[in-house]
Amino acid sequence: MSKKRPVIGVLALQGDVREHAAMLERAGATAVPVRRPRELAEVDGLVLPGGESTTMSRLLETFELLEPLRGRLADGMPAFGSCAGMILLARQALDGREDQHQLDALDMVVRRNAFGRQVDSFEGDLDFTGVEGGSLHAVFIRAPWVEKTGDGVEVLARIPHTRDAGAAADRIVAVRQGTVLATAFHPELTGDERVHRLFVGIVQEK
Ligand code: GLN
Repeated sequence: MSKKRPVIGVLALQGDVREHAAMLERAGATAVPVRRPRELAEVDGLVLPGGESTTMSRLLETFELLEPLRGRLADGMPAFGSCAGMILLARQALDGREDQHQLDALDMVVRRNAFGRQVDSFEGDLDFTGVEGGSLHAVFIRAPWVEKTGDGVEVLARIPHTRDAGAAADRIVAVRQGTVLATAFHPELTGDERVHRLFVGIVQEK
């Protein structure tokens, strides 16, 4: 028996909204943009795309989405954040702005722009727990990494320990806590929808 096609919102304040929506559709969901509390109330899950977490934090307030989003996350709505979306979902962000809001849906501390200026964009292959069919090609753009995780947070991927990885070796770049998923990289940009499939599965099982 096939499972129901869930309706998944993409927070449409900034970032790769169209790319995420296309991947969600390929992964078996109906994707809708979310800009208003009314739209947020109707989705089965939400993707928070990359962009600039400081700007997105401010826009969440302007669009009166901050408290409704906190409420839905507290009620257990599944969410998937990539890059800036990961930063927003974390309990705490280092090297952020003091007035930047945290959604506190993932018990972890992230560091913004953690990979440094010289290597602010790069690509690489990762082993990703829960994603079958071999390693995953990952695109990092001024990405955060996860500095510290609480007990309930499952680590899904780390930067491989290669000779040129330097301080980035073994850093955590994908996590899951219950129905909340986050990646420091941009799975919407590679044409490989396996991470989106994982998230659609999480929403369907909820
Ligand atoms: N550096 C950005 C931030 O701090 C994230 C970059 C991205 O989402 N591609 O929010």
